[in-house]
Amino acid sequence: MINADLHCHSVMSDGTLTPEALAERAKANGVALWALTDHDEVSGLGRALAAAQAQGLPFLTGTEISVTFAHQTVHIVGLGFDADNTALVEGLRRTRGGRSERAQEMSDGLAKVGILNAFEGALRYVGNPELISRTHFARHLVESGICSDTSEVFRKYLTEGKPGFVPHRWARLQDAVQWISDAGGIAVIAHPARYGFTPNEEYALFSEFKAHGGRGVEVITGSHSSPEAVRYAETALEFDLAASRGSDFHSPEESRIDLGTLPDLPGHLTPVWSLLTDRIQ
Ligand code: AMP
Ligand code: MN
Ligand code: MN
Ligand code: MN
Repeated sequence: MINADLHCHSVMSDGTLTPEALAERAKANGVALWALTDHDEVSGLGRALAAAQAQGLPFLTGTEISVTFAHQTVHIVGLGFDADNTALVEGLRRTRGGRSERAQEMSDGLAKVGILNAFEGALRYVGNPELISRTHFARHLVESGICSDTSEVFRKYLTEGKPGFVPHRWARLQDAVQWISDAGGIAVIAHPARYGFTPNEEYALFSEFKAHGGRGVEVITGSHSSPEAVRYAETALEFDLAASRGSDFHSPEESRIDLGTLPDLPGHLTPVWSLLTDRIQ
């Protein structure tokens, strides 16, 4: 089993490292196949590919698309697609649109509980003006001493029902899967244990995802405990999906799991990269 890490973020979305620094770190940590999967964005992939090639590190294109399904946000990772595909690039651009307005509203909500100018504060951490996210607000609130770490910020301010939370409509599941597949890639359900769906909702997610042409699910991820990995290994078999593995690394200071430091995929599953051999660069 090779050390594949097919999920991480750079400064082009809400990570703190450049694509070049990630490639170097992946190589140093023994990663043998790497994908950069910035949220709703592919603009870091050119730099990531060049850096991966300079390191002699096999590379797959990637992205992590924000989707609204059953009134919740679900993340769909795309792997091995053509990053110049017009429908994909356009779809991602539309998905990013509205982030700035949402961030202004988040800032208004925070102002009501006495946290002023959070938009301007968050902007100081943003590497890509089209990609202001909750993570940037979290970093700002930690740096200004309001919370001691980012998970406290999410718990107190940025999740449903909290002052800085603003509901948002992301892409449709069907569209996200289609953009990825039509661009020659494979769509993967990211970190399924994170969603808190009822069994019925989860069944609907997996069956609709399959029906739209989705082919993979993350089994080993920085977001799963080992019982969760066992559980989603079974789900992969039940829905005949390939299995993916990725740290979801964002930052040396914040991420619990470093690039390339995950358990192996269970041996009885089909690794998603075995379906992508002709897409590795
Ligand atoms: P957004 O796309 O703006 O809604 O931001 C989502 C990002 O926030 C995710 O990709 C994670 O990086 C981060 N995030 C979500 N929930 C948490 C949490 N509880 N603790 C830390 N980071 C989180
Ligand atoms: Mn993120
Ligand atoms: Mn995610
Ligand atoms: Mn992610």
